[in-house]
Amino acid sequence: MIEELLKMNINEALKCKDARTLFLYLYYHDGNNLDLVGNKILETGDLRYIHFLLRTFEIKDYKKYIDYILNTSSSASYLYYILYGVDYLDEETRLSIINRIIELNEDRYIIKSMYFYFNYLKQFNNDLYNKIKTIFKDKLDIDINRDDLLSILEELFYKEDYMYDYEGFTENCYKGRKDYIPNIIVCHINNTYGSAIKNFYDKEAEVSAHFVIRRDGYVKQVVSLDDSSWANGTSLREASDIYYRFAKSPLINSIEDNANYYTFSIEHESYDGSLTPKQLESSIEVMKKIIRYVKEKYNYDFIIDRDHIIGHSDVNPIVRTKCPGKMFPYDIIINELKKEFN
Ligand SMILES: [Zn+2]
Repeated sequence: MIEELLKMNINEALKCKDARTLFLYLYYHDGNNLDLVGNKILETGDLRYIHFLLRTFEIKDYKKYIDYILNTSSSASYLYYILYGVDYLDEETRLSIINRIIELNEDRYIIKSMYFYFNYLKQFNNDLYNKIKTIFKDKLDIDINRDDLLSILEELFYKEDYMYDYEGFTENCYKGRKDYIPNIIVCHINNTYGSAIKNFYDKEAEVSAHFVIRRDGYVKQVVSLDDSSWANGTSLREASDIYYRFAKSPLINSIEDNANYYTFSIEHESYDGSLTPKQLESSIEVMKKIIRYVKEKYNYDFIIDRDHIIGHSDVNPIVRTKCPGKMFPYDIIINELKKEFN
């Protein structure tokens, strides 16, 4: 399939009617003819690939895509992931997305988008402020004023952190490593520690990571290093958006198996990949522990470089464009680890 996409010319691509092929055409042609192919994707009305398009490419003429999603999506989730995952939107567009999320009335996404706007982006808008004042009064019986707006949002956003506590390891994993020596660490981010932990112990969510590292540096291990977490799986099916041959990592791309079997995964509580000093320290300590474990258990010297310490977006570039995000401090981590082990 990839070979066919690479050989395909623009006229052949424009005859395609399915959003996935059109999107993958752009992906394998570095976004050339983005406007022509983008219009075709828009014609299909497929929200999944319209939203991938916005998150993968920096699109000048993005408003038509946003307008389409604003007018057709009945769920706040795509809107929120565009708000959070597309960093080139202008202020007016951001506000129209947040206002639509408010209309859709899903509490979780209302709080997430408000937190993102006021607390993370550090923006302020008076109309929006008055709106949330009313919403918080009606829904949560909380009176807010401008002075405590940020702290209330912060508290609501992170409240989940303190709601969940689990003993021991989760069952969300494969036992063992097949016949692999696990030799890659995959870095991830999750907006809140609480939501990560909750999903990792929820059988139905079918996700996990070996470790979760909170903003304050606290480390929770969720899966034994002997086992394979469900963090960054790849599929052998061409029809899947996590097909292993889409991987940007040359190692992952060349191993015809699920990447979870031969990787370790570390989740960090973060919005854009930047880590607090304590979190960075913990992350480096966790990686040291992994490297020592690999030596002890397999008598194998973990290779410390950017091919073996990678991000989720290197494994699943189509669906995980912002994990762990461009602020993630790979260089600092790799340097520190080299100092320890070389
Ligand atoms: Zn991830």
